[in-house]
Formats: sequence, C-alpha cells, structure tokens
Amino acid sequence: MSSWSTRDSAELYGIEGWSNGYFGINEDGNVELSQTATGANPLDLKRVVDDLVRRGLPLPLLIRFTDILRRQVQAIHGAFSTKIDEYGYKGIYRPIMPIKVNQQRHVVEELLDVGASVGLGLEAGSKPELLVALALMGGRKDGLVVCNGYKDQAYIETALLAQRVGVTSLIIVDRFSELKMILEAAEHTGLPPNIGLRAKLATRGSGRWAESGGDRSKFGLSAEELVLATEVLEERGMLDRLTCLHYHIGSQVTAIRAVKEALSEAVRIFADLYQMGAKLEYLDIGGGLAVDYDGSKTNFHASRNYSLEEYASDVVWQVSSTLNELDIPHPRILSESGRALVAHHSVLVFNVLETNRPEEIQPIPERDPTQDEHAIIEDLREITQIVSRKNYTEAYHDAISLKEDALSLFRHGILDIKDRAKAERLYWEICRKIWKIVRDMEYVPEDLEPLERLVAETYYCNFSLFQSVPDSWAVKALFPVMPIHRLKHRPTRRGVLADLTCDSDGKIDQFIGLHDVKETLELHPFKKGEPYFLAVFLVGAYQEILGDLHNLFGDVNAVHIEHDPINGYSVRHVVEGDTVRDVLGYVSYDQRTLLERLRRAIEHALSEGKITFEQSAALVRHFERGLSGYTYLDSQADVAALLRSLAPKSNSGPAETRNHSANTEVYEVVPK
Ligand SMILES: *Cc1c(COP(=O)(O)O)cnc(C)c1O
Repeated sequence: MSSWSTRDSAELYGIEGWSNGYFGINEDGNVELSQTATGANPLDLKRVVDDLVRRGLPLPLLIRFTDILRRQVQAIHGAFSTKIDEYGYKGIYRPIMPIKVNQQRHVVEELLDVGASVGLGLEAGSKPELLVALALMGGRKDGLVVCNGYKDQAYIETALLAQRVGVTSLIIVDRFSELKMILEAAEHTGLPPNIGLRAKLATRGSGRWAESGGDRSKFGLSAEELVLATEVLEERGMLDRLTCLHYHIGSQVTAIRAVKEALSEAVRIFADLYQMGAKLEYLDIGGGLAVDYDGSKTNFHASRNYSLEEYASDVVWQVSSTLNELDIPHPRILSESGRALVAHHSVLVFNVLETNRPEEIQPIPERDPTQDEHAIIEDLREITQIVSRKNYTEAYHDAISLKEDALSLFRHGILDIKDRAKAERLYWEICRKIWKIVRDMEYVPEDLEPLERLVAETYYCNFSLFQSVPDSWAVKALFPVMPIHRLKHRPTRRGVLADLTCDSDGKIDQFIGLHDVKETLELHPFKKGEPYFLAVFLVGAYQEILGDLHNLFGDVNAVHIEHDPINGYSVRHVVEGDTVRDVLGYVSYDQRTLLERLRRAIEHALSEGKITFEQSAALVRHFERGLSGYTYLDSQADVAALLRSLAPKSNSGPAETRNHSANTEVYEVVPK
C-alpha cells in the first residue's frame, strides 16, 4: 500500500500515452500542466481549480489552456515545416482550423492569435460558419478561408466579396451543381473566384468515420465530374481560376495506410488536372489527423498508429516526389486538422457528489440464533467464511447459483423479502471477498471478469455527459478520465461514473486501459465533505457544440488559463455557462410567465389557508434564485470543505498571500 507513488498513478491512468506531454503528476500528487505546455514552470491543475472555485466559479468547469493551443499549432506547423526543409519542398504549409470542431468565439480568436505567425486559416462548412470566418479573417494579413458545405447564391457571393477585404476565399465545389452557381456569381459580381474541387476519392478513411470517404461519400466529385468541371472551366476560359484541389476522407483516421493511399490518389488527380491546364496553387488534404485518446499508438478507434512527424513526412514526401517526376510546381499544402489542433486544450473538471456501493447499504446480517435460517442462506453464509485463494472460482459459481435459487424461492413465496435481502447481502459479501483476491492477479479468469462490474461503485458526479462529453454516449468514444489529486495514494476502489441526468445512459463505464478498454476506473474512496475532483481530458474537439440540453443541463462555465511567468497563471477569460433562466428560455419558458403562474397558485393557496405568507415568500425566493442559478448542483459544501482544507494550519503567514498567487488583473467576465 505505502509503496504506491505518483509514478504508479501515471502508469495506471496512462497519462504519458495520451497527454502529448502536456500533463503530468507532480510531487504533491496533483495533475499538472507540464513544462512542455507552459514552456516554463509547470502549473498545478488542482490549485488552479481550487482558486477558481474560491473565486465563486462553481464546478463543473471547462478549463481551456491557451498554452496548449499555441503548442499544438506550433507542433503541427513545425512538423510540416521540418519536412519541407528536409525534402527541399518549394511550397509552404498552412494549417486550417475547421470551425465546426470548436466554434466558440474565444477559442477561434485565440487560435487566430496564436496561429497568426504560421498563417493559420479557417474552414467553414455552413453559412453561419462562413460569416464568422470572414468576419474574423477580415483585415488579417494573408487571411485564408476555405468555403465548404452546402452553398446557395448568397453564400457564394459573400465569399467572393470577402476577397475585397483581403480574404482569400477558396470556394470548394462539393457537389457538381455548385460549379454553375459559382460561375454565375462570378459573372454577377464581376469578381474572379478561387475555385477548389473536392475530389471524391476511392480511398476510404479508417476507423469510425471511414464512410466520409469512398465512392459512396456524401461530398466530392467523381473522376468523371472532375474531368467535366475542368472542361467546363476551360470552355469559359477560366481554368486559371481553378486554384485548389481538396479532399477529406473522414475524421480520426486511425491508420497511416489510409492517409498514404488517399494522398497517392489525390496527388495523381492534382497532377492530371494541372496537366489539363488548371493553375493549381493549393492542395488541401482535409482533416482526419487522429488524436491518440487512449495512448495505445494503434489503429484502434480511439488511437492512431502513426506520429505527427510520420504524417507530415508522408504528405510532403508523396507530394514532392510525384510532382517532381512530372515537373509540376509544388503547391501550398493546406491541412484541415481540427481534432488534432484543439482536442488537447480543454479539460472538464467536476466534483464527485456521492458514491453508492450496493453491498454496503447494510452490515452483514448476523445469524439470528432464535430462528432457523433457510438452507440457502446458511450455504451462502458458509461460503463467506471459507472463501479463499484456493477455492474462489468454485465459491463464485456456487454463490451465483445460490443467489438464483433464492430469487426463485422468493417468487414462489417460500422466502420472504427479508430472507431475500439477506441472501443478496451475503452474495455481495462473497463477490467483494473474491474481488479482493483476484484484483491483483496478473490474469483474471475470464468467467470472473463480470465481478469487476459487480463490485464497482457508482460515483455520482456533478456534470452532464450529454452536455459535456456527448461522443462518449453517442459513438462510445473514449476519453481519458482520472482524478486530478490524491495521486500519491493508491486508488483502492473501482468505479463507474454516473452523471446528473435521469438517463440510464448518462454514465461513463468505458475507460482507457493499459491493454484493453476497462469497464471500471480505479478511484480513491470518496469521503463526504472532502472534495474529490475528477477530470475528463482531451474534450476540446467537437464535444462543446455537439453537447445538448438533456434534462436541461446547460453549458458549463468555461475558463481560459494562460501561463504567466510572474503569477504562475492568469485567467484570460471567464465565459459564463447557462443559467437555469437561459436554458428555460431555449425551450420557450419565460421567467415572467413562470413567476406569474407561481404567484397565481400561491394566491390561491393563501386564500385557502394552505400556506403562510412567510412560506409563500420563501417559495418565491427559492424560485427566483433557482432561475438565476447554475444548472448544475451547488457545490457550496465542497467549497466550504475546500476553504477549510486551505485554512492556515499555524502562524505560517496569512493564507491569502500564500495562496493568492494568480493574477486577477486581466480577469474578464464575458457573457456568451
Ligand atoms: C470535419 C471536417 C474536418 C475536420 O476533421 P478533423 O478530423 O477534425 O481533423 C476537416 N475538413 C472537412 C471538410 C470537414 O468536414
């Protein structure tokens, strides 16, 4: 027990595998934002959360790390630049952020800031996204927007006109019919378009989103349509406006083989279109660069079997070697890696509210000496006493069948509900004892595997899976989950996480494991009154916008944190989450009407003498407070406990000066 160290925790939760070097565990047993991320001193995540809670920001909190965003942009750009130098490639590389991956204004603005030096552009997949992209890009040096998605005349004209404010908008023909619209709009506005063709590759991606590529994919032009489009442009004398070839074979491409095959196909198309006279300047290889959520470095759906360097190397090499042979000038390479850019930078932190262990509801039932026990109960009781390393498999099988027999006797009225409760209680006791025996064994016998689930505690947590980690529910995506403190101690319990919704699907019961997906997570015993904070990592891509209002749990508070050499960190923005009033508004309930109805009911009750004036006042007060409050559970108890734990132990100086090291000057509260 005592030999447990933070190293063991790091290994158990696989932090090195999935964190890309951004997170680690410090000597205090807390998760820290590492030097890799900050470029300087590590930052204690637990301390940051404590500070935020003390400032009155309740959990759950979404923490966005600007430093990670910056590092990811640099890493992706750096990987391509290195290969461009190495292979003597003549073009440049520019990263493109597909806004759909995280449209939050603060995130996009921060990305544009940190990406300015490497020419980061934006990709829009809809009219609203286009408007955002154009507005944010306008006036920036070398602004670049890739215009994807379904288009109408207005969409295309907007994109064309934006070129007048210095934005290069590449209008991508996703469906053949769009070409005609683009040509009409160009004529109408008198503005020359930058046309891109999206190729429908025969190569499919790999992993969960493989269907985005291949002959049956929703977007893109077939070989025939590509030829036809080129011919149409030639007829119009506009082949010089065909400046970009684009493809996208799907998100989270887990296998490098798929990346390479798509590239070789696309580069051939590029070469042929060029030789037909197109003035291609851009090759946009789409997104799909995968994130290694489970750290396994395999082609499992939550991982990828290649590194960023390998990816960049294959792209640059493939393009340059093929085009060199044909003496075709090197295009600028664009990639729309959304997931890989932003997944790492957000962490969802929440508190555990309570736990439930079914077998601990009551103590082991004593044998009542005055009464005869049914043979089944006697047998179960005996097993609890004799179960050992030698006989646990047999004991487990016996316990299961005895429990089933007990249920059958209950159905026939032979055992009463108290007997049944006793039998189940003893059964749980046996399971727990067996679990203690097998949990440290190298290999758990296959038929004992369900035990892990049986003995798992449910940790009830203050968050909504549907709002904050929707892919965990919708597509059974895996995200790293772990406590952010107490990591000096061995986590002795096994748990599954249940969220606040009343949906039985609202739980996390799949976790990344060293060799396989785990059904339970190692956790520390939860003690009421002592804060226990857990975090889901790598939630920066897709999760926020796909999140929904199930049970009317709204957006969580989001905080932008940046490393600060003097104070450790600074809070760049606080983006307040939804209040109850906000979410009720989304479903068309208006505060006034609700209060009016309540008051009417109160008047009625008053007139019938069913409520006192004071009670009615209290009811209205609760109602009003509720409306303006956070949709999640009040963590006041945790705050109080936290403050107690932070209180100065002796006369070692005032607590404020010791703890209050964060810079609050740049603290800006922004409504959404
Ligand atoms: C969704 C999408 C992307 C982003 O893919 P990631 O896997 O997040 O990198 C890129 N390009 C297009 C056209 C998309 O639709």
